[in-house]
Amino acid sequence: MIPVTVFKGRKVALFGLGGSGLATAKALVAGGADVVAYDDNPDSTAKAAAEGITVADLRTVHWPSLAAFVLAPGVPLTHPKPHWTVELARAAGVEIIGDVELFVRERRAHSPDCPFIAITGTNGKSTTTALIAHILRASGRDTQLGGNIGTAVLTLDPPKAERYYVVECSSYQIDLTPTLNPTAGLLLNLTPDHLDRHGTIQHYGEVKERLVAGSNTAVIGVDDSYCALIADRVERAGVKVQRISKRNVVAEGLYAQDSQIMLAQGGTSSLFVDLDGVQTLRGSHNAQNAAAAIAACLAVGVSADDIRAGLKTFPGLKHRMQPVARRGSVSFINDSKATNADAAAPALSSYDRIYWIAGGLPKSGGISSLSSLFPRIAKAYLIGEAAAEFAATLGDTVPYEISGTLDKAVEHAASDAQKDENTGNVVMLSPACASFDQYKNFEVRGDAFVAHVAALDGVTMLIGSGKGN
Ligand code: ADP
Repeated sequence: MIPVTVFKGRKVALFGLGGSGLATAKALVAGGADVVAYDDNPDSTAKAAAEGITVADLRTVHWPSLAAFVLAPGVPLTHPKPHWTVELARAAGVEIIGDVELFVRERRAHSPDCPFIAITGTNGKSTTTALIAHILRASGRDTQLGGNIGTAVLTLDPPKAERYYVVECSSYQIDLTPTLNPTAGLLLNLTPDHLDRHGTIQHYGEVKERLVAGSNTAVIGVDDSYCALIADRVERAGVKVQRISKRNVVAEGLYAQDSQIMLAQGGTSSLFVDLDGVQTLRGSHNAQNAAAAIAACLAVGVSADDIRAGLKTFPGLKHRMQPVARRGSVSFINDSKATNADAAAPALSSYDRIYWIAGGLPKSGGISSLSSLFPRIAKAYLIGEAAAEFAATLGDTVPYEISGTLDKAVEHAASDAQKDENTGNVVMLSPACASFDQYKNFEVRGDAFVAHVAALDGVTMLIGSGKGN
C-alpha cells in the first residue's frame, strides 16, 4: 500500500467505495488523513465501516472544512451530468481528485525522480501497459503495474528511487488527476468511444491530451487526426514528443513497416526489431502498441537489447486476440475484449478466413465501419441483442446465422470451420459489442467462450482451464 501522507491531519471526503475506492480510503487513513467516506450502495458502506473507515452520508458533511474530495473514477464528474457529490464539492470550492492524483502527489513529495509511465488511448491501453511492465520486469527492474488495468494504484508499493511505475489511465482517471506528470506519457489513439461520459470527442480529446501535456516525454500515436493535432500542440508547448505510426514514416519516434519496427532519430531511420513470429503481438494494432512501448522504455533508460528481449517473450493478455485452442488446422481465438467495432477491426484484419462470432449489447454505429473486412468472414454467428441489427448490416454480402447464444455459436462455427477445405481457418469471438445483455462483463463472456470451446470433441487447449496468460 502507498500511505497517502499529503493530507495528513486534514479532513478528506471520499465517494465511491466499490473497486479502488476502499483501497483509496485505507491509503488515506494510513497516511494520517481524517477520512469520511460514502457510497450509494449500503453493502459497500457496510464493508468499509467493517474495515474501520468512517462512513457518513456526505449530504451531512460540512463541505467548506474539507481539504479535498476524492471521487472514484466510475462516478460521473461531468457527463451525462455531475454526481450530486460533485455539485456539493463545487459549491463549496473543494478540489475534486482521484486516486491517481493522490499517487502523483505522493511521488512528488517523496520520490519525484522515480520513473513513472502513464498510458492512455481509446484502444490498446492494457496491452501496452502490460507489455511495458513485462519488458521492465524481464530486464530485472522493480516494476509496479496498476491503475485502470485492474490493480488500484494505491495498493502498489510506495515510490522510491529505481522503482518503476506503469499506470494505465482511463479518461475518467485523467479527469480526476489535475497535476499528472509522468516521466513518459503515452497517448495511443483516439476514436469516438465512451462519449456517454465525455459529451463530445473534443472534450474526450482534451482530457486525454492532459496526460501527454504534463509528461517529460510524450509518446503519441499519430495515425488519427485528433492525436496528430495533439502531438503538434504538445510539441509547440515545449514537450519532447516521440511520434508513433503503424503506417507512415515519422521524423522522430517509431513506425511500423509490416512486422518491422523502425526507430527514427535525428533524421535517420534504422530497424529496431522485427516482430515476425511473435504471436502475442500480431497485427498492425499491436505494432502500434509495441512501438509505443519501445519509445516509453527508451525514455526511461532501458537498453535496446533488454527491450528486444522483453518483446519476444511477452505472454500477451487474456481476451485480446488470444489463441486458446486448436482442432486440426482450425484455431480458436478469444477476442472478447473487443467491445466496439474499432476494437474488433484489428482482430478481423489479422486473419484471412474467419468464422466470426459477434454480437451482444450493440454500440452506436454497429458494424458498418467493418465492411471492408467482410470478405475475410467465411460466416458470421450472431448472438445477443445486436443479432438482428448486425444481420441487416451483413445483408447479402456475408453468410450469417442468428445463433442467439454463445454455446450455439461456438458449436456451429466449429463444425462449419472443420468442414471447410481451406486451411488456417479461425473461429473467433470478437463481438464488437458490450457483453451486459448476456454476461456480467467481457471477461466472463471470454471465459464462457473458452469453456464452450473446451467442451468440443477433439480440441487441443493452448491454455489451462480458461485461465490463459
Ligand atoms: P484497452 O485497455 O484500451 O481497452 P486492450 O489492450 O485491452 O485495450 O485491447 C482491447 C481491444 O482493442 C482488443 O480487442 C484489441 O484487439 C484492440 N486493440 C488493441 N490494441 C489496439 C490498438 N493499438 N488500436 C486499435 N485497437 C487495438
